[in-house]
Amino acid sequence: MRNDKRPISSTDRVKKQVLPAGDFSSWLRCMRSTLINENGIDVNCGECNGCCTSSYFIHIRPEETLTLNHINKKLLFAAPGLPEGNVLLGYDKKGCCPMYIENKCSIYKYRPLTCRNYDCRIFAAAGVAAGDEGKAVINRRIMNWKFSYLTKLGRDQHSAVKAAAMFLQERSESFPAGKVPTNPSQLAVLAIMVYGVFLKYKYGSGRTGNISSDIKIAKAIMKASEKFEARAAKFRTIF
Ligand code: SF4
Repeated sequence: MRNDKRPISSTDRVKKQVLPAGDFSSWLRCMRSTLINENGIDVNCGECNGCCTSSYFIHIRPEETLTLNHINKKLLFAAPGLPEGNVLLGYDKKGCCPMYIENKCSIYKYRPLTCRNYDCRIFAAAGVAAGDEGKAVINRRIMNWKFSYLTKLGRDQHSAVKAAAMFLQERSESFPAGKVPTNPSQLAVLAIMVYGVFLKYKYGSGRTGNISSDIKIAKAIMKASEKFEARAAKFRTIF
């Protein structure tokens, strides 16, 4: 996947159609819980099949035996940089997942955790595009999602997630090399994991213009992300 962090462009606004994304606070709580316990998330996809046709590599873990039993081994290859047994499912020339047959997932009941936990509202939450190569369908979807806010806190939380994503993009030099994801999905997920730092900093734009505070914010982000990862790891050892 190309590491493309461009803001959402006019071409993405081809067919403006408002899609209710739900109350932001409730969604954020649900998305963060899904990132920890990986029990899947409900997305009102309707007719959209963007995530199955947008040139995504689908990560499958060795413990997902039911899923692996339903996919031809020839379609899988070792996931670079991950422990043995972790594999990726690629996509064809049109960007489609090989399990996507006759306009639907042919293994829906056994689909990978990656697919169950995928929610393209993460991009609308973080204010970033899903990428360029083959992501037009998802970018349009991102443009059409519209969150509602039952409370002022919900609005503040959304601003904080966006501020976190902007800081990660614009202040990557404040982090140790390789700490800021170059992949749009991973960047949006990190912003959702650490948004609390910006809520605390009054969800400023991250533009502090003062190197010491940028470093301070970067340190706070890394601490928040480690804390979140530790919660997820603990959860996975218990269950
Ligand atoms: S496994 Fe199914 S849900 Fe996942 S990308 Fe492929 S077709 Fe879509």
